[in-house]
Amino acid sequence: MSLFVASGLVKRFGGLLATGGVDLTVEPGEIHALIGPNGAGKSTLVNLISGMLAPDAGKLALDGVDLTGLPPHWRVRAGLSRCFQVTSVFARDTVRDNLLLAAQAHAGSSFHCLGQRDREAALLAVAHELAETVGLGDALDRVAGTLPHGAQRKLDVALALAARPKLLLLDEPMAGMGPEDSLQMVALINRLRERTAILLIEHDMDAVFQLADRISVLVAGRVLTSGDAAHVKAHPEVQSVYLGT
Ligand code: ADP
Ligand code: MG
Repeated sequence: MSLFVASGLVKRFGGLLATGGVDLTVEPGEIHALIGPNGAGKSTLVNLISGMLAPDAGKLALDGVDLTGLPPHWRVRAGLSRCFQVTSVFARDTVRDNLLLAAQAHAGSSFHCLGQRDREAALLAVAHELAETVGLGDALDRVAGTLPHGAQRKLDVALALAARPKLLLLDEPMAGMGPEDSLQMVALINRLRERTAILLIEHDMDAVFQLADRISVLVAGRVLTSGDAAHVKAHPEVQSVYLGT
């Protein structure tokens, strides 16, 4: 059974069909990339999945749980976490405090049996582990807003991971990055495979071809084709419509 299933998703803005009946699945452990030219409907689809927009038709389910109609924060609880294009860190707080806050927000009742001190220690351990995971283990005392762009994006990913997602939505994680930061982000996303399935929207085709187990090409609100990198590269319409060759 697929981890995530979107079926028959439709979204209109007035007379414009932004999402024209999209079916999309993500398998457990899969990195599924979504590519397509500007205006193809990628952000609309991400917003439908995360619950920022309500579809005109269609259904969504994650791990057997029907997400259709649930507000965004309930979807997070159901295992869907989103990393925003706009950085969502608390700029004046340290990396540690940002992560502590996120860990606390998502701890639920898991540490309730512990006393105050043990609870704090447990949350701190979670925060440190998240920092290590994204490569910010040495930056715990840094004020988040003073971090370079690449490190802030890593912190964004760590904050999304604090929710312990089953499916992580990454909307252009490499946006605005130089080559060195992009390489590090590719390596980081690769490491995340072990913890969560990923739906990756990304313009950097090198990164997409390196990371994705499957690529879906969105054109004018519809999935043109879906397959591995070799399939997508060889698809004649993809070459003309998207890669511009
Ligand atoms: P992409 O992310 O692939 O560039 P979008 O999902 O942002 O594409 O946009 C798809 C289409 O829907 C575009 O034609 C865009 O102008 C339109 N669109 C997106 N959001 C809105 C909105 N809130 N109101 C009206 N039209 C929108
Ligand atoms: Mg977009």
